[in-house]
Amino acid sequence: MYDYISYQFGFDFAAVLICMGCLFFTFVMGRTDRRQNKFYIMLLGIVMLNAVTEVVCSRAIPRVEKDIWYTCYRVCHYIYFLTHSAIPVIVCFYMMSVTGKMKLDGKFLNMLFVLPFVFTEILVIFNPLTFWVYTYSDRHFVRSWGENLIYVQSAFYMLFAMLHLLRVWNAMTQRRKFTILYFFLMSIAGVVIQAVFAKMKVEILCESLGFLGVMLAIEDEDDRVDSDIDIHNRKALGMDINSYLAVRQRFHVICIKITNADIIERVTSSANTGIIAESVGAYLKTVVSRHNIYRTSYNTFLMTVVSDDDRRAHDIAEEVSNRFKNEGFALYDKEVVYFNAVVMLAQIGKDIFTSKDVFYLVDSPVPKGITKKILEGEDLGYLIRRVAIENAVNRGLEDHNFEVYYQPTYYLKGLKIHGAEALIRLHDPELGLVFPDDFIPVAEQLDHIDEIDDFVLRNVCEFLKSGIPAAHGIETINVNLSVIECMRPGFVAHISGIVEDYDVDKKNITFEITESAQARDYELLKQVVKELRKKGFHVAMDDYGTGYSNMQNSFSLDFDLIKIDKSILWGAEKTELGEIILENSVRMIKQMKKKILVEGVETRPQIDLLDRQGVDYLQGFYFSKPVNKEEFLKVIEKENM
Ligand code: C2E
Ligand code: CA
Ligand code: CA
Repeated sequence: MYDYISYQFGFDFAAVLICMGCLFFTFVMGRTDRRQNKFYIMLLGIVMLNAVTEVVCSRAIPRVEKDIWYTCYRVCHYIYFLTHSAIPVIVCFYMMSVTGKMKLDGKFLNMLFVLPFVFTEILVIFNPLTFWVYTYSDRHFVRSWGENLIYVQSAFYMLFAMLHLLRVWNAMTQRRKFTILYFFLMSIAGVVIQAVFAKMKVEILCESLGFLGVMLAIEDEDDRVDSDIDIHNRKALGMDINSYLAVRQRFHVICIKITNADIIERVTSSANTGIIAESVGAYLKTVVSRHNIYRTSYNTFLMTVVSDDDRRAHDIAEEVSNRFKNEGFALYDKEVVYFNAVVMLAQIGKDIFTSKDVFYLVDSPVPKGITKKILEGEDLGYLIRRVAIENAVNRGLEDHNFEVYYQPTYYLKGLKIHGAEALIRLHDPELGLVFPDDFIPVAEQLDHIDEIDDFVLRNVCEFLKSGIPAAHGIETINVNLSVIECMRPGFVAHISGIVEDYDVDKKNITFEITESAQARDYELLKQVVKELRKKGFHVAMDDYGTGYSNMQNSFSLDFDLIKIDKSILWGAEKTELGEIILENSVRMIKQMKKKILVEGVETRPQIDLLDRQGVDYLQGFYFSKPVNKEEFLKVIEKENM
């Protein structure tokens, strides 16, 4: 007999089975201790209960004439209405916890938020007296006006949940997006089908199918957790940080880097670094909930501390740092090893801002010579920027993101073009255009400066080889050298080799060297300059006037050209003392019979000032900023018109 009652029975019974299955797996997987898990279990419980009440009702309808079935029928309705109207508000809370929002901002808002639910709940509680929500006629269920209010209440919460999800939409993974869409579509389909075909009681079935999808894609953590150690992985970290950020949740991250991880190999004579995660992870789980612990590499852990109280994060960092300092960790429950840990504490929105920053923090090598046990605030700004640049330099070398720019230099006499300085630029896909003052020191530390300077030199040689510069009256192109590099054995032979490969005239290249504290071995540097000149190159002293080095030493280096730093020029415009310094520098260098170039010429009065002093060459924004090769060609073509 396929009447509608059997239909209802079948659908609801299926819903009960589905919910039971979901609950079973939720408990088997042990995903029960998070806020989101608790809301999920509540939802499943309610849907299952509702399905059971409908099953009982379907049995009761044909028998309502009997008092016992009629009572059953009424009790079931009562339970159904009391619980089912809670689903939308719990779905809201569930979606918020999944997306990292713990609660609405402000107590008042929170109270206001549950008000519609509380109101309809009161209506239902008093329904046996008022019959405002539903009533009975001839022992059969009949809707009253109050039921519409429950629909309004549901619509309010569903709308809220959707608006919230829209806000965090971009922070969600594809998988979550699809699951949530699926869930809403399924729930809406249930309501619509039941509204159109009153006899198709599929609402509860559709809801349970929706929750089944949620279990498979959101509650299941297989792809977020390294199952062997039961700690969240990088993917989970990225997801969670993005969620927190999207909902503007206030939180701190505490990163723990073990700097002597190689001790494992020495102590256990195996390279099984998983053992670190086991022992350290077990400890960290005693400090914060396991849901806030992530492992990003074999020696790096991260904890998130979600709290409005900044002290709490600080206290935790302190506690962790002390634990590492004072006690060892037992490996395989036997050997005890002491791990050196650097603990970094960063507040999101203050010290670091994006999930990318968090990954810079965890992926950065710990700077050497750290004495502080906890790095925070300003300690980190430097680190993060440095790491960002480090990555950009490495990426740049691999992906060829470096480009040589040229800035023309001019004869003071007649302001005719004389040459150009080659200046390196880094176009990073993440950081944008990076200037050499930012990345040259990093490249020097990473030991990549040779590669970069060679790259510049090759570009310059290629350019010279093309014959274009000579055709436009360019006598020389200046190439910057790092002092560290100059002092390396075999340096002169190396760069001469490059230039000879291109078969360009060495006198068309001027190397610029900034003598600085780095050049402690003057005798060696002197030798290098001499050899370079012997090979036929020109050599210039860069940035005259910026260092405090020994003048006698500096000028004992046999330079062809001295480049006076822009600060000297700008100083001369400002004060009388500055003017004296410029004037006497120029006079002194002239007496040494060296050519003078002044950098940083930006205005016409500066040219007039330098004209009075009688320097040889000028360089600066007044003529042109450093520009790429194409632009540079336009500049020199214009010069020759
Ligand atoms: P530098 O050798 O003193 O280069 C001159 C710097 O002054 C350039 O900065 C240039 O853009 C800037 N400049 C030129 N004229 C003016 C002006 O009129 N006003 C102002 N405000 N600035 C002006 P840039 O390109 O940022 O280079 C910075 C430093 O990076 C260079 O200082 C140089 O020491 C280093 N560098 C650049 N390219 C290379 C390279 O290929 N190898 C090495 N080792 N160092 C390089
Ligand atoms: Ca220079
Ligand atoms: Ca300079």
